[in-house]
Amino acid sequence: MAKKLLKKNFKKVLAFDLGGTKLACAVVNSQGKILEENKILVDLRQGPRSLINQFVELGTPLIKKYKLKAGAIASAGPLDPIRGILLNPTNLKTNGASWGVVPLIREVQKKLKIKLQLENDAAAAMWAEHWVGSGRGVANIVIVTLGTGVGVGVLANKKLVRSGRNLHPEAGHIIIDHQNTDSKNAAWLCGCGNYSCAEAFLSGVNFTKHLSEKWSEPNLTGEKLVARARRGEEEVLIEFRNYGKRLASFLRSLIVLFSPEKVILSGGFSHAADLFLPTCEARLRELLTTRREGVDLLPQIKVSQFRDEAGLLGAAYVALARAF
Ligand SMILES: [Zn+2]
Repeated sequence: MAKKLLKKNFKKVLAFDLGGTKLACAVVNSQGKILEENKILVDLRQGPRSLINQFVELGTPLIKKYKLKAGAIASAGPLDPIRGILLNPTNLKTNGASWGVVPLIREVQKKLKIKLQLENDAAAAMWAEHWVGSGRGVANIVIVTLGTGVGVGVLANKKLVRSGRNLHPEAGHIIIDHQNTDSKNAAWLCGCGNYSCAEAFLSGVNFTKHLSEKWSEPNLTGEKLVARARRGEEEVLIEFRNYGKRLASFLRSLIVLFSPEKVILSGGFSHAADLFLPTCEARLRELLTTRREGVDLLPQIKVSQFRDEAGLLGAAYVALARAF
C-alpha cells in the first residue's frame, strides 16, 4: 500500500492523535512528512463536548491554510474504527466518570466539514512503522505502545489484525495475574475497572503510580524514576528489571498468538528501554526456548525511532489509504 500512496502526488491530509493527556494535530503529506503540527493538553472537564471543541480549534486553521479534504483520528481505545465511535474509553473520563459511547467522527466531521476516519492509536502507530519507520518491508509486526495506557497493534501477513465485529484487539487489557482480583488490591487496579491487566503493570503512568505509593513518594514522576535508575540507584533498577520480566511475559503471549518477525516498542516509556529491555530479552529467550526450531518465533525487538509522531503519521496513512 505504501507504494500506491507514493504515487498520489503529494496529497495532504489532516491527522489527529488523541491520547489520555494530549491532543495533537498535524498536516501530513503522502510522503509521510509532517508539514505543520500543534498540540494541546486534553480538556476533559466537560466531557466529550470540550474535547470536540478542541478538535475544531486545532483543525480549522490547518484545513483552511492547506485546503484539506480528508483526515483521520488516531485515538486511545476501546473504539469501533468502522462506525467511528469511542466505546467507554479507558483513559478519557471526567472526574472519574466514564463517557460511555461517543460518536466522535460524526460530531467532529459535522464541525470541520471534511471526511474523517477513526483508528485505534496502536494500530495507527503500527501503520506509521510499516510506512516510514522501522517496520518497512516487514510482513509481521507487533507494536506495543507504552504510554498513558498500553496499546497493541498487529500486522500479520501484511494485514492489520482486527478482532471480531471489526473492533480493535484491546490486548493491553489481558489480565496477567489473578491474585489481585481476589484481594481487590487497589495498587493494580486498571483504568478499565479490572485488576492486573497488562496495562495496570506496564503503562508508564501505572508503573510510576505504583512505585509512588509503595515508597510513599507522592511527587514521584516517570522522569525522576528514569533519572534515578540511570544514576545507578539499585532500588529503582530492581523495579525496572521486574518491569522487564513482566513485559516479557506479556510479549510472549502476543508472540505465540501472532508470530511477528519484529516487535516494536513505542510510546513515551519506550525511551527508558535501556533500563528494562536487556532483562526482558533474556527472559523472553527462556520463555520461547521450545519455539525456536523450524519456525523461530524469537522476534527482533526494536524501540521506535519516532518520539511522539507515530500516531499522527499512522492517522495520515489511514486517511490516505481510505479516503482517496
Ligand atoms: Zn484493563
